[in-house]
Amino acid sequence: RRKWNRVVGVLRELEEGCSTSIGRLRQVVDAMAVEMHAGLASEGGSKLKMLLTFVDNLPDGNEKGTYYALDLGGTNFRVLRVQLGGKESRIIGHEVERQPIPQHLMTSTSEDLFDFIASAVKEFVVREGDNSGLQLDRRRELGCTFSFPMKQLSVSSGLLIKWTKGFAIKDMVGKDVAECLQQALAKGGLDMRVATLVNDSVGALALGHYDDEDTVAAVIIGTGSNACYVERTDAIIKCQGLLTNSGGMVVNMEWGNFWSSHLPRTSYDMDLDAESPNPNDMGFEKMISGMYLGDIVRRVILRMAQELDVFGDVASKLSEPFILRTPLIAAMHEDESPDLVEVSRILKDTLGINDIPLKVRKLIVRVCDVVTRRAARLAAAGIVGILKKIGRDGSGGVASGRSKSVGESLSKIRRTVVVIEGGLYSNYEMFREYLDEAVAEILGEEVAQHVVLKVIEDGSGIGAALLAAAASHPS
Ligand code: ADP
Repeated sequence: RRKWNRVVGVLRELEEGCSTSIGRLRQVVDAMAVEMHAGLASEGGSKLKMLLTFVDNLPDGNEKGTYYALDLGGTNFRVLRVQLGGKESRIIGHEVERQPIPQHLMTSTSEDLFDFIASAVKEFVVREGDNSGLQLDRRRELGCTFSFPMKQLSVSSGLLIKWTKGFAIKDMVGKDVAECLQQALAKGGLDMRVATLVNDSVGALALGHYDDEDTVAAVIIGTGSNACYVERTDAIIKCQGLLTNSGGMVVNMEWGNFWSSHLPRTSYDMDLDAESPNPNDMGFEKMISGMYLGDIVRRVILRMAQELDVFGDVASKLSEPFILRTPLIAAMHEDESPDLVEVSRILKDTLGINDIPLKVRKLIVRVCDVVTRRAARLAAAGIVGILKKIGRDGSGGVASGRSKSVGESLSKIRRTVVVIEGGLYSNYEMFREYLDEAVAEILGEEVAQHVVLKVIEDGSGIGAALLAAAASHPS
């Protein structure tokens, strides 16, 4: 009995530590907007790098032809071929090939990694057969996404700033990613030009904007998390005199590294961070993205196991970092069977824990809920922070329209679309529901009506091909 109370105590403490009351979320929204300002004001002015992308014109629909894309940055990489038919026929078709990145290449040399990728691209091209209407010796244009922080030199070159998400190829840091890829492609005998190199969120934004011109931001919530949005060039203070035709530029926030004292942080987060290869880094990502949620849950269950003997001596498996992956916590969370059979199965198959009483299984489901809900709500606050920064959260409208009635000001709020891509958001229904709900809750009903959150798939890859098309034939 006393042990049981202690275990319930672990859950209560977790719930308190993960609190995302509306008041706290608003503080996170404000902190995000403030940090965005600071990151735009000066180099190193914030944990948010607010990186220039040199993408100033998003695809508008006139793009035509066959383009390739390479989407690199998480657990998988994708090669795509996209056929664009111009204004009338839009995207005629696209093919995608997904491949996991072998674990050993994530910590090998840049040459090994890019040779592997180049050969996968080549195989993809060779397999395209006759129906593409393209000969093998014809020059191809490639749009590449690379979802690690880069210092962009142009729309087609960028230096790797650092690795994240478990990648660690030392010789690559500081190198031009496009050049490495270009060399590997040439070595592989493929006449393909790296036309654009962008962060994956920028690719997603490109497709979002191609589909719907009211799209102002893109958020990635998969293995990692990031966001980008369209900023006015005159607001990019750290780069004075920046001139673009459109008067705007896409800014890659690198929001995974966002930090604020308002973020609800627990001892589990601190331990996870301390034991990670990049402590004190990517604090926001470690609380909200798919790479980490499962491991936060594992740490809580381990703590519960230490309080309670029912787990037997299997705690050793529970001590293994990252053994409990996020899709598994989704499956436990969404187990609707009265006896929680799915939870039993996962505990047994993954952690080797048998015969866990139903009431403990219920606690575990609660743990999944608390950790996932916090993640989704914090991501939602981040999104509203972006909207606030660009005046699309309704607050600017009300403040500047003091003489008008609130209703009148609100009616001027422009329709705003944010596209969201990534396995955590698209596959984990509870996560998606919590996020959508929190955005509406923070914005309030009136404003929320004007804000559309749209899930997209293969957006970054298709978007990269669109950007390559736009760069090859600027309209
Ligand atoms: P990546 O971000 O690796 O490029 P994805 O956008 O497909 O690729 O995201 C994959 C990540 O999404 C996985 O690492 C996992 O954390 C998460 N994920 C995938 N499927 C699910 C699921 N069913 N439930 C919860 N999370 C999932």
